[in-house]
Amino acid sequence: MEIKKLIGQYLDANVYIVSKNGKCLIVDGGAFLYDLIKAVGNNRVVGILLTHGHYDHSCHVLDYANFYKCKIYASEKIKDTLTDPVAIYSKHGETIDDFSRFEFIGEDKTIQIDEFKVDCYYCPGHSKCCECYLIDGKLFSGDVLFKKGIGRTDLKNSSKDEMFESLCKLEKLTFEEAYSGHGEKSTYQTQMKNIAVFKRFLTR
Ligand SMILES: [Zn+2]
Repeated sequence: MEIKKLIGQYLDANVYIVSKNGKCLIVDGGAFLYDLIKAVGNNRVVGILLTHGHYDHSCHVLDYANFYKCKIYASEKIKDTLTDPVAIYSKHGETIDDFSRFEFIGEDKTIQIDEFKVDCYYCPGHSKCCECYLIDGKLFSGDVLFKKGIGRTDLKNSSKDEMFESLCKLEKLTFEEAYSGHGEKSTYQTQMKNIAVFKRFLTR
């Protein structure tokens, strides 16, 4: 499995292209479609995973889904974020209201998208709609876990208590590397230390 990274239009949000055997999944939608098409190359896009609804991660996702004619997988809570001009944190109050290409994930579950087995973990805290995805030992953690820290919990639909519970959930997983919504990737060992520190921080 190969992972390519693009930097998005806003706040340097990451977009990942996860490819295997000529097929790929896209994680998040913050980069321009033109840049994504170049990075995807000859791979066939089989689906898009959204880690959460904030506009830096979602702004171009409908362009991707309409161009590649594929589904967008996301937490069922994402509608509340995408349709709310405050909660989505878009630059000029833009919202996303077309859900025709979305497939919603309920509680934690494993989904099969073509040949990709994706373990989905609902991880609210940064936002109500955060979902982390584990694919072949790689954790796509969105704005829940960063290389140095965790996502903000002072935004609309954030919750410190929910973030604590989400960190407890992620702490139990086994993975090789975490690919965050911003910044560099990190190792499992780094994240176990990170989670331990921030669990204490959140309960102080
Ligand atoms: Zn965010």
